[in-house]
Amino acid sequence: MNDNSQKILIVDDEKSVRDYLASVCRSLGYEVATAHDRPAMHCKLKSHAPSIILLDLQMPDFDGIHALKLVKDECSDATVVLVGGNNPRRLTLATQLGEILDLKMGGTLLKPVMIGAIRQKLAEISAPSTSISYQDLQAGISNCEIRPVYQPKIARQISGRWSITEVECLARWYRDDSLKILPSQFIELAEQYGLLSDLTRSILRQVVRQLRKWDDRNLQVTAAVNISPSLLTNRSFPDELQSLMQEHGLGNERMTLELTESAAMQNADLALEILSDLRNRGFGLAIDDFGTGYSSLEQLYRLPFNELKVDRFLVRELHNSQQAAEIVEAIIALGHRLDLSVCAEGVESLQVLSHLIDAGCDKFQGYFIGRPASADALEQRAREFEQTGLAAGWREAQRDTSRSDRKPGSGSSLPLLIL
Ligand code: C2E
Ligand code: CA
Ligand code: CA
Repeated sequence: MNDNSQKILIVDDEKSVRDYLASVCRSLGYEVATAHDRPAMHCKLKSHAPSIILLDLQMPDFDGIHALKLVKDECSDATVVLVGGNNPRRLTLATQLGEILDLKMGGTLLKPVMIGAIRQKLAEISAPSTSISYQDLQAGISNCEIRPVYQPKIARQISGRWSITEVECLARWYRDDSLKILPSQFIELAEQYGLLSDLTRSILRQVVRQLRKWDDRNLQVTAAVNISPSLLTNRSFPDELQSLMQEHGLGNERMTLELTESAAMQNADLALEILSDLRNRGFGLAIDDFGTGYSSLEQLYRLPFNELKVDRFLVRELHNSQQAAEIVEAIIALGHRLDLSVCAEGVESLQVLSHLIDAGCDKFQGYFIGRPASADALEQRAREFEQTGLAAGWREAQRDTSRSDRKPGSGSSLPLLIL
């Protein structure tokens, strides 16, 4: 919950969207004002003095560019969150424009906006991230308060059966029993404090221990861990990781490292050397968030990846935007031409999953299949999946359509499978 002093202005020409966003924001304790056009926005910027603005990019006679200029003129201290529809490029351009105007850009929300997404976005913006000191974070890492949760990736086996073959390991900071902090609030800080490589090592150790436990209980999955750029400057990292795997009796192929362009590029030659070493030892390497501008085509041929992960931003848009569908299909084809296995992230609905299966995608990850979950919950999910295959998820999805955090106004079933 925020400190209640936060004021939000919601700018959107559609009344139903304004009302929905306003009620969610109010329920989170914010003071809300709304505006449906330029004069109203102008007036509310002055009278309400918002600290956060949720700004619709598509309004008749009043585009995002003019709205951002208005913010600059009237209220340049507010954090602007762009709310957009089916045009990711437009959102990217508007974000860049906001940055040029020196506005505080707070990221984007995609329509239809889910309650969880609003909550997370507002928590990110309102979080007093500077209140996390170096000592706090260091203690959090060394006391293992930062622990992995596991999100399943599914793939079709040669037998034709679907199974959970991999898990992506995502860091969560449990500062006390009730408070769970998401990576968006501490990964960047860890990087600034020079603690990200300690954090990644700690996660890797916990993940490998968990793989061992699962193996002993006859559950064989590959783990995928997000790695930090600082580990790609240390030539002894492949040796270290291999020793860790050996210590736990696991083959290197059971670990995949996921990295984005920014992670790979700090010192390109050294990174290439270390990544090639890792790949030669049999570790998996995935290029993460492909298609968003963080990962590029150049990386694909320069670095020894064996997996490509299509960014969730594009995947989510698949059934809303013909353009997004074509881009995703082209990425899948490109990945296959380069002999890479292609994983789609952010699969949130049956429609998207079906589309991706038809497009020949190899692996699937996202809320439709399973949310990040504890080791025990993941294990239970994997066992269920072994029994019932993909059909179980589909049935559950149909049952789950009455959940309160569905897309507003969505007539189709939108599952939110919580493990
Ligand atoms: P990522 O590597 O792209 O991880 C996927 C993110 O997408 C996760 O967010 C996951 O919870 C979220 N996600 C998965 N499926 C869906 C879906 O269907 N819909 C939507 N809207 N989101 C979905 P999370 O856990 O908040 O992690 C955010 C980012 O933080 C990760 O993005 C990764 O870049 C970074 N991160 C997480 N753990 C670590 C870590 O241990 N080390 C490093 N260096 N980075 C990490
Ligand atoms: Ca990842
Ligand atoms: Ca990703």
